[in-house]
This record gives sequence, C-alpha cells and structure tokens, in this order.
Amino acid sequence: AGSGKFFVGGNWKCNGSKESVSKLVSDLNAATLESDVDVVVAPPFVYIEQVKNSLTDRIEVSAQNVWIGKGGAFTGEISAEQLLDIGCKWVILGHSERRHIIGEDDQFIGKKAAYALSQNLKVIACIGELLEEREAGKTFDVCFKQMKAFADSITNWQDVVIAYEPVWAIGTGKVATPQQAQEVHAAVRDWLKTNISPDVASATRIIYGGSVNGGNCAELAKQEDIDGFLVGGASLKGPEFATIINSVT
Ligand code: PEP
Repeated sequence: AGSGKFFVGGNWKCNGSKESVSKLVSDLNAATLESDVDVVVAPPFVYIEQVKNSLTDRIEVSAQNVWIGKGGAFTGEISAEQLLDIGCKWVILGHSERRHIIGEDDQFIGKKAAYALSQNLKVIACIGELLEEREAGKTFDVCFKQMKAFADSITNWQDVVIAYEPVWAIGTGKVATPQQAQEVHAAVRDWLKTNISPDVASATRIIYGGSVNGGNCAELAKQEDIDGFLVGGASLKGPEFATIINSVT
C-alpha cells in the first residue's frame, strides 16, 4: 500500500454560478473534516479567485486545465504562472473529458505536466480506460501507456497525485467495484516500482475517481492501494463531499 496521506479532490467541472459557488464554499467552511486528509477543490477558472478569497485555507485550490508553457500570444489560454499568481497550487491534467471530448493526446498532456511541475504547480495526473478497452482486456496496457507519457515529463514525483478514473465510471453512476479499482491501483503502483523506484511507488498517492459518492466511498477507501478520491458530481454538494473526505481509514 502507499504510505502517502489520504487525498480527496473535488472536480467541479463546468458547473456553478457566483451564487452556487458561494453556497458550496460556506458549506465546506462549516464542515468538520478529518485532519489527516489533503483536500483540494477545482472550480472553473472564472471562480478560482472567488473561492480563494472565501474558502478556508484548510482546502487548497486546483485548476482544471493549464496552457502547455509560458503565457503569451495564446488566445483563450491560462498559464501556470497566472494560476500561481492567484494562489492556485494544483492543476488536473489528462482528465478523460479533455482526452475524449476535447481531443488532448498523451504528448500534449505530457507537455502540460512538465511545464506545470517546472513552475511548482502540482499535478493531479488522470489515467483510465474506456469501456471497450476494458472489455478487450486492455485496461493495464492503456493505463501503463498513459502513465509512461506522464512519467516521461515528471522529475519531482512529490508534486504529483495519480488519479485512476475508468472512463465508463465517470459521471455514469456506475462506480468500479472496490476489487476492480484495487486491481488497477495495485498494478499502477507496481508499474511505478518497476519503472521509477520503490520509494516513488510507496509515496505516490493513487486516488480513484468515477461515480464516488457518500454511499460507496467507505468500501473503496478500505482497499489497500486506494489513497483517496477524485470526485466530480458529489463534490458539488458540501456535506456529501465532507462525508467522502472523512471516509479515510
Ligand atoms: C471526475 O470528473 O473526475 C469524476 C470522477 O466525476 P464523477 O465523480 O461525477 O463520476
């Protein structure tokens, strides 16, 4: 099992308004959270500053995307320097919605990871197979290929959390069973041991994402190689997100 601190991230995706963000922040500020858990939330870019200015320092803030390098003439993009400038310490990269809806590939995602880490922006690095890939017995091949693309861009593993998110489980209500998740987490940890180092394998948090909610988090959290969660839909509800944070075992 990993030796890292339990980590729970909330990915708000393209949801919210000033009003709903304000309500969610006040619910999170009022929640009692286990102390032994790192907690991060990822609002849409336009609400990051509102969240930074109102949310307790107990919870860190992440972006959901970043430009591949230094800012400049890149219309519509946001740079790592700008995120850090407003107190945002993390970025989610390789999320399945960016891979499969927006069309980002391993190479592009790898560039983003390398540049973000070079600026000390920490990375939640997402991997995961499509349903047809799982059914074809390719789950490990797909996850290891995505891991390799990240690993080629990473030197400082202490600034990285790996999120295993099977695409068929994201936003579908169809959560992986604890055994299905554990099997992939153990394989990813083993991949890190073989390809990076035993120390990195043991220290790197491997979190699970895909329809995690207040009802299924406890069983998943008991698994040896599940070091936390990346939560989409259920992170938009403050009390339920707190339940997931407090599922640490
Ligand atoms: C996610 O987007 O990272 C995610 C896991 O979404 P959901 O929890 O809604 O499946």
